[in-house]
Amino acid sequence: MNVLVTGGAGYIGSVVVEELVRARHSAIVLDDLSSGHRDAVPPLAYLVKGSIGDPESLGQAFQAKSIDCVIHLAAKSGVAESMARPDLYEQVNVTQGTFLLDTMRAHGVTDLVFSSSAAVYDPSAPMPLTESSPLRPSNPYGETKLRFERILEERAATGGIRYVALRYFNVAGASIDRGEDHRGETHLIPLLLDAARGAREPVPIYGSDYPTRDGTAIRDYIHVVDVAEAHVRAIRYLADGGENRALNLGAGQGVSVREVIAAVETVTGRRVPTVPAPRRQGDPPALIASSDAARRVLGWSPQFEGLNVILETAWGWRVRHPEGYKE
Ligand code: UDP
Repeated sequence: MNVLVTGGAGYIGSVVVEELVRARHSAIVLDDLSSGHRDAVPPLAYLVKGSIGDPESLGQAFQAKSIDCVIHLAAKSGVAESMARPDLYEQVNVTQGTFLLDTMRAHGVTDLVFSSSAAVYDPSAPMPLTESSPLRPSNPYGETKLRFERILEERAATGGIRYVALRYFNVAGASIDRGEDHRGETHLIPLLLDAARGAREPVPIYGSDYPTRDGTAIRDYIHVVDVAEAHVRAIRYLADGGENRALNLGAGQGVSVREVIAAVETVTGRRVPTVPAPRRQGDPPALIASSDAARRVLGWSPQFEGLNVILETAWGWRVRHPEGYKE
């Protein structure tokens, strides 16, 4: 298939493209490189530099090849940033995303795999979260992801689109060639790995007073290659006539911030400097997935099991790329 990947130069998107190419699909990447990297785009993919809100760039991407389906990852994805700039999140994640849908329609493309998030759920719901758990985002980022899912539902109801929304939990780790390199990094694991190398000041532990086993927040960490592979399965599922739906992608294991720190110390063999800090606004105490539906519907199962394996791949990539991507 010819697959348009928006955000294909980003951390998750570039690994999605890697898996698409490995499965012998053809990938056209549309990315404005605002947070992605040109060097992260696999050489066999065709890169159009531009935004999903820009008609000219979208036109170029849709005309590069006859597109069979779209994997839409281009978005703003910082919880803390979304608290400070909700309008920006609305603009990029909802308004520009809707423009992408309109452009798909204009080109007769119906199938879409959307990169959604665990942030759509009500964190006071019992864990693990299933796709039918109550939805109530804790922050504007999650709200925009949910709004876009609702738009997909509406358009699917009138037959204009067919979709799978993949609700990622905490994506981490690296492939051999591609890893996490955000400008102005805010994610726990890359920060801890850099602190372990002595390349960063002590990492703040945001909140030690959560109602969890050690007082720090609990998340479900899933390997980026496993997440990427689910996208390849999802486009096949849609092409085979699969139903419109949302699917969780997680490992089903809750790990606290302190447990992540201990695991990073084990894997790197170094001490990680940390400092207590207040809770980060918008952060829920715990998010743990049930991914039974993805296993059943897509035949998916994570291959990189356990946090230590995830960390070993992330550490390996960081040691090989101490400065991250060149461009
Ligand atoms: N976290 C932290 N210190 C940091 C960054 C993150 O304690 O410098 C915590 C954060 O509060 C959350 C968890 O680590 O409970 C994972 O955060 P991350 O930003 O990696 O992903 P999120 O869960 O926000 O998508």
